[in-house]
Amino acid sequence: MTPAHGIAVIACAIAVIAAIRDSVADSDEEAIRFLQTYGYLDGDNVQTISDNATLALRHAIALFQEYYRIPGDGVLNEATLEQMRKPRCGVKDILNDLDDSPRKWAKTHLTWNFHLASESVLRVTEVAFEIWAANSSLMFERNSTNPDIVISFRKDFHTFVDPRHQGSRICPSLLEGPGNVLAHAFLPSSEVSEVHVDSAEKWHIELTVNPDDTIHLLHTLTHEIGHALGLHHNPLKDAIMYAFVLSKTFPVRLSEADFLAIQNLYGLRNKSEIAGPVTTTVTTTTIATRDTGNSADLCALRRVDAVLVLENRISVTMAGKFDSEIFGIVCPKDGLLEQLRALLKRLAQMRNVFSSEDDLEEEREEEEARKFSHSV
Ligand SMILES: [Zn+2]
Ligand SMILES: [Zn+2]
Repeated sequence: MTPAHGIAVIACAIAVIAAIRDSVADSDEEAIRFLQTYGYLDGDNVQTISDNATLALRHAIALFQEYYRIPGDGVLNEATLEQMRKPRCGVKDILNDLDDSPRKWAKTHLTWNFHLASESVLRVTEVAFEIWAANSSLMFERNSTNPDIVISFRKDFHTFVDPRHQGSRICPSLLEGPGNVLAHAFLPSSEVSEVHVDSAEKWHIELTVNPDDTIHLLHTLTHEIGHALGLHHNPLKDAIMYAFVLSKTFPVRLSEADFLAIQNLYGLRNKSEIAGPVTTTVTTTTIATRDTGNSADLCALRRVDAVLVLENRISVTMAGKFDSEIFGIVCPKDGLLEQLRALLKRLAQMRNVFSSEDDLEEEREEEEARKFSHSV
């Protein structure tokens, strides 16, 4: 190798190292912006280059990786960056202590409007509200006069639509054009909650499967309306409240996690109208029927996946099927269900959910009598 060649190689190596250093710095900056935007990192934590700032950044990356189950242990790897770059909802994943907005509406009959919307947009929006209504005590009605939830297409830097919105007229969140943030929404407030949908996206405004290069408006609206009702993000991919957009978003359905979340806030319409999670089909909304199981199967249960306590009703989720109601079933005392019920009963009494132990016993006795009369 001639001296000239040696200098050229060294210069080339320096250029490559500089390029790598720049790209590392760029991806660090990109990650910091992302982590600050979505609540993983405080704004002040990484303003200075210090050991503390490095630790704070590592902790924030680890938190994001833990939330979305990405391997990495706090190291900014390709998989983590790839996840950060996917199209998503603009609402934070982690809410800090300052986010003290009321978490639910004080009423169950809510009105909505999609500002200056076409017929097809209104139809899709109606179906999005129907999905939540079918799984809760909530009822929705379109009303353009002072609606509780106002939806609108916005882009770039933008303002709130409704003059009742408290605080600044300017929305604090940017809609940056195609990709990135698709929409964002605001939690229930005393007067009005807004949903802002990025008009720069290529929206699929039909109740059909969307082409690959489009974003399904029904899916995005159902998600954002979830926020406007008080729900937060869920890291499970099958949840409608999952922040990122997956390749398959139709039919739109609530997962069990979504179902439990909306039930916890608003309960059921009444005891005779229990439905499982709702799934949209091409032209209609289908309500999945409830799997009631039978007493013998329920008594033989060795594990349940989740327990839902609503007033004086106790339901369990098991083996992927939801809502086998256990309240009216009497099982052997050493069985899982009886132990679970005894535990929940004690818990409920502590929280005054049940009026008294006597009422509970009475209901069980009535249920026993009813079962006995059925079997006779
Ligand atoms: Zn969201
Ligand atoms: Zn906005």
